[in-house]
Amino acid sequence: MDCELSSPIKFVKGVGPARANLLNKLGIYTVKDALLTQPIRYEYKPSLCKIKDIQLDKVQVVYGKILSAQILKPSKKNPNLSIFEIQLTDGTGWLKAVWFNQTYLKNILKPNTKVILTGKTKRGFQLLISQMDNPDFEIIEEDDEIVDNSIKEAILPVYNLTEGLTQRRMRAIIHFILSNCKFQLIDIIPQNILDRLKLPSLNDSIRAIHNPSNTLSLDDLNESKSKYHKRLIFEELFVLQLGLSAYKMLINLERGISMKGKGLLKEKILSLLPFKLTSAQQRVLSEIERDMALPRPMNRLVQGDVGCGKTIVALLAMVNAVECGYQAVLMAPTEILAEQHFLNIKRLVNEIDISLCLLTASTKNKALQKITKKDAMIIVGTHALIQEGVEFENLGLAVIDEQHRFGVLQRASLKKKGTNPDVLIMTATPIPRTLALTIYGDLDYSVIDTLPPGRPPVITRLFFEKNKHEIYKILEEEIKKGRQAYIVYPLIEESEKIDLRSAIEGAEKMAKRMPQIKVGLIHGRMKQYEREQIMKEFKDGEINILVSTTVIEVGVDVQNATVMIILHAERFGLAQLHQLRGRVGRGSHHSYCLLLCYGYSEDAEKRLKVMIKTNDGFKVAEEDMKIRGFGDFFGTRQSGMPELRSVNSIRDSHILELAKEEADNLITKDPQLKDYPLLKKTVQDFWGERLEVFKTA
Ligand code: ADP
Ligand code: MG
Repeated sequence: MDCELSSPIKFVKGVGPARANLLNKLGIYTVKDALLTQPIRYEYKPSLCKIKDIQLDKVQVVYGKILSAQILKPSKKNPNLSIFEIQLTDGTGWLKAVWFNQTYLKNILKPNTKVILTGKTKRGFQLLISQMDNPDFEIIEEDDEIVDNSIKEAILPVYNLTEGLTQRRMRAIIHFILSNCKFQLIDIIPQNILDRLKLPSLNDSIRAIHNPSNTLSLDDLNESKSKYHKRLIFEELFVLQLGLSAYKMLINLERGISMKGKGLLKEKILSLLPFKLTSAQQRVLSEIERDMALPRPMNRLVQGDVGCGKTIVALLAMVNAVECGYQAVLMAPTEILAEQHFLNIKRLVNEIDISLCLLTASTKNKALQKITKKDAMIIVGTHALIQEGVEFENLGLAVIDEQHRFGVLQRASLKKKGTNPDVLIMTATPIPRTLALTIYGDLDYSVIDTLPPGRPPVITRLFFEKNKHEIYKILEEEIKKGRQAYIVYPLIEESEKIDLRSAIEGAEKMAKRMPQIKVGLIHGRMKQYEREQIMKEFKDGEINILVSTTVIEVGVDVQNATVMIILHAERFGLAQLHQLRGRVGRGSHHSYCLLLCYGYSEDAEKRLKVMIKTNDGFKVAEEDMKIRGFGDFFGTRQSGMPELRSVNSIRDSHILELAKEEADNLITKDPQLKDYPLLKKTVQDFWGERLEVFKTA
């Protein structure tokens, strides 16, 4: 057949209309799409073995036809045990294969079906016939051509599949294309970059990933990847970075507001604080003030571990805007956090007569009037701020707290509420500087890298049900000393109601257990004024123990709280655990983070170990990235970043740096990518609407 890159996949030999539909589901419409589909991993397959030659206790591959299949219930004592058993032959002998408690296989592995089994063989109960327990199987369809020696020892690519499509078929399709189509994929990476970085061509890379050479071990292929994989990873990151660089270039050309206050309000606030700014806070604040003074819009990310004191820095930036006659807004991801920021700021600014208001879903109507009429100069709120109808008189500075909870789109919408206002983004997701620079390539970057002095590290300990009483011992001791505590119940998405019930019951039990103290309960379904009341009582020390769902995860700040108890800690992600731990250890007292765990998976165990090992947010993040992989860690989808296909681990941070450097160079030379139309189109396709958003943001 005529096999061109643009040929519809259904015309490729062995595909046809039905399989083409399945391939479409995987995003494969053309020959080119198939070629660009990357294996998700690789696996080792030994060569095919005749049944008569089978050796015991070794992983082997056999191919045969199923003669019989049946479900057995071998034990009366154990009625839950069922065994699915097949017998098969390849003409040289018979083999039995069994699977435990997988009776559904009866509908898949039927008599007369041809299968390939991979597994270890042991001697069966009937001496002459050997047996495989729980082998991997692969069904051979009628039109699969299989010749004895077509199964040779090899490392094979494993593709993402969809129901109805077998791994063998997918491999065969791609193999057919590779060997029968004369294709020439065009490199979008400029030749001089390929040369300088010694990257293989796209053609070679595509061939190599589908057909890995046997000079690399399986581990190399799956873990550190071949140079061909790295080439593809580079390309993806290069395209990502080009979008970010181009955007940054664009906003640097925008006209913004120059805000250069005298610093009078700042001095007043500083004099009201019970502490001095750390040098890290001062440095970051002066970076922000410098940006604000410039006539181009600020677009700065401030990163700092939980508890490092980002809020006060943001507030000082906000009063700078106010002093210059502009409104400043602070957007927080939860109502509780917005309420807390509001109360804290109120306490400070009341004395210096700056008008302030809170805008959340619950206070919206009242707040709106104030904002439009400039009766409020500082506005604190949730994402309710970015809804239609919220309009500012003259927004000068927009601060986004805990940015990882917001997407690019939300960030952009807040910015649009003004005319090129300055934007300050705060995050506690502590990622290595170079990574931050690349991932947030469109932002300038500051880091508050020290905690305020005199904070002993939080003591983190793991408990199981059997020693859970020790948790209560620590809790009681701390309460006796006058300290306060949080008890957090996990959130299970599907059943918010159940969570709520367990938190409510938990609070009741706690109150019975310690009748002499006050236990409070807070959760997302309460009315705003109720929550505000509870938080106020907790802050004022009237409530000793605060039981909550995860609503207090981010930002909540009560210095006298020294105990954080997390129930079902195994269900929480690492970032979340670290955030929760950040709720304590905010004052000079010793604090505890007590993780109560009810059995765990391998990943959960890894997470909990990291928590015990380190208090350092950077290390936590690094481990988190290792466990979850790159894409998931950055929450590419929710952050509004395009999905990265091949990049998936901290392992690629070096390539990321290279890609950024090359992208910045290229954009400086050719901001519109005029000389690289194909590359330009790829960048536009990759970013799609998001780049538009960037442009109008
Ligand atoms: P985060 O960076 O996690 O948002 P916060 O801004 O909530 O941290 O600050 C944590 C706590 O540290 C607050 O109680 C705040 O008042 C206090 N704090 C901030 N800066 C300092 C400082 N320089 N010295 C002492 N305490 C500080
Ligand atoms: Mg904060």
